Order: sequence, then structure tokens, then C-alpha cells
Amino acid sequence: MLFTPTVVKNLLKKPATRKYPFEVREPFPKYRGELVIDIDRCIFCSSCERKCPSQCIAVDRDKGTWQCDPYACIYCGYCVDVCPVKCLSMKDVHRKPSTEKTEWIEQGTPPRHKKKETPKDAAPKGTAPVLDKSAAAAEEAAPAATEVAPEAKAEERPAAKDKKKDEKKGKK
Ligand code: SF4
Ligand code: SF4
Repeated sequence: MLFTPTVVKNLLKKPATRKYPFEVREPFPKYRGELVIDIDRCIFCSSCERKCPSQCIAVDRDKGTWQCDPYACIYCGYCVDVCPVKCLSMKDVHRKPSTEKTEWIEQGTPPRHKKKETPKDAAPKGTAPVLDKSAAAAEEAAPAATEVAPEAKAEERPAAKDKKKDEKKGKK
């Protein structure tokens, strides 16, 4: 008895659902319907792969591939937000239904990193490495390791005096 008004109301109302794909609803603004990538702008940083909560993105920098499983994607849009070059976006369209799972792989060209040159690398083959002149000058200016420190000299002096006194006494 308690549910009678609700039952009567639902009998008189049209269904809340649509017979998609025969009936397609107009997408509303900022609708996240399909993930799109501009692979030519992708720098293969893997930020999208790390942030994806459903782990449906795989980025391979060496092979230059960006892969996504659209059937695992939950269309949260995190990858779009974190992409540093903004090459990911969401299209406001409804994805077409499919009867089979297909792989979505994009092939791009990852940017090459320049190798940092060390002084060793810079020297041409067969030539001796160039010494750092400032280091050599500092070495010259520094006191020799065998030189006796002034404190040590001061300690030595009384002992030397005693020795001379003993020698004089011996002569007498
Ligand atoms: S929209 Fe969300 S679930 Fe889909 S690929 Fe991007 S981060 Fe992953
Ligand atoms: S975050 Fe953007 S630039 Fe980085 S791998 Fe993903 S799609 Fe490419």
C-alpha cells in the first residue's frame, strides 16, 4: 500500500533511460565522452600512465608508443589534467558500442636527450687531458707536506738548546 503512489506514477511516466545507440542524447558541455591524443606533441613523460587510476595507459619511451585500453578507461580526465604539454583532451561525443575489444596504440617519435659532455669526453682522442691551471697554481702555493709546522718548531727549540749546553759542559 505504501508504494502504490510510486507505482502508479512510474506507470504513467516515460522511461528515464534511452535506447542507445538508436536514441542518442545531446552531449552537455564539458562531457567526457572520448579520450583523444595528439601523438605528435607527446613527449613520452609517462605522467598520464602514473596518474591513471584504472592503469589503462602504457607509455614506452624507447619504442615511442602510447597505448590505452578504452574498455578499462573510466573517463575521469586525470590524464588530461596532468599532461604537461596538453596533448590529451576529452571529446564531447558518445563512444560507439563495440562487439569486440580492440587495442588502441599510437606510434610517435620520442624526443632525444642530449648527452652531457664531461671534460674527459671533450678531449680529442690521442691528446693528453688539459690540467686545471687554477688547481695547479693552488698546489704550488700550498706549503710542502714535509715542511715542519711553526708550533712543532717552537717545541723543538728548548731541546736543541739543552743539547748545546750539554756539548759545552763536555768540552769543559
Ligand atoms: S580518463 Fe582516467 S581512466 Fe581514462 S585513461 Fe585518463 S586517467 Fe585513465
Ligand atoms: S602525460 Fe602527455 S606528454 Fe606525457 S606521456 Fe602522457 S600524453 Fe604524452
